[in-house]
Amino acid sequence: MSAVSDGMTVTRILVVEDDRELGELLVRLFRDVGYAADVARDGQTGLHLALTREYDVLIIDRGLPGIDGLDLLARLRRRDVAAPALVLTALGTVEDRVAGLDGGAEDYLVKPFEVDELLARIRALLRRAGTRAHTMAVGTAEFDLITRRVTTVDGSAATLSGRESDLLRMLAEAPSRVFSRAEIVAKVFPDAAAESLVDTYVHYLRRKLGAEVVRTVRGTGYRLGAL
Ligand code: CA
Repeated sequence: MSAVSDGMTVTRILVVEDDRELGELLVRLFRDVGYAADVARDGQTGLHLALTREYDVLIIDRGLPGIDGLDLLARLRRRDVAAPALVLTALGTVEDRVAGLDGGAEDYLVKPFEVDELLARIRALLRRAGTRAHTMAVGTAEFDLITRRVTTVDGSAATLSGRESDLLRMLAEAPSRVFSRAEIVAKVFPDAAAESLVDTYVHYLRRKLGAEVVRTVRGTGYRLGAL
């Protein structure tokens, strides 16, 4: 599930489009730029492919025989298919756009469109999906696991050290769970094996992110607090 440029995995796109000519044109276009593409000519086939294979982006025509594009997308979202979707439509009214976005589409393009614009929008969807994959929520704040930056809703940010980041991540992955010092040592400080280190690093996190970020559960350990 990453960009074509890393040489290991190929971006996979599913095109659901009943217009044979347009479907074939899109598949050729995507293959030319290095994406792998499948095309389905009706909603039922699109549903089957999207449920049985992994795609990075879904391009769905709104007007399809059988299951219509928005209905298809709604069914996929209910089945936890989370790949970003761009809906193609011949209609371009505001109501239509709202219906598409409310229906679970990340983006929307009105026919006829320029292929360069379609490609740019696909790149934007892939970038956004890539960003989501390495960020997690800590309360209302966003925690970027690569830059180790925690950004609160009011825009203030703090950068964590590697160990601080590992500790916060462990707590944030199970926000309602209480972790014992021994558990934290085993996961975050396996080379040190000193439980007092946990208290030290909790202190560091509180200094950077506020006293409330980690809650002490007396006699048990620590859990995620609030930001
Ligand atoms: Ca159509």
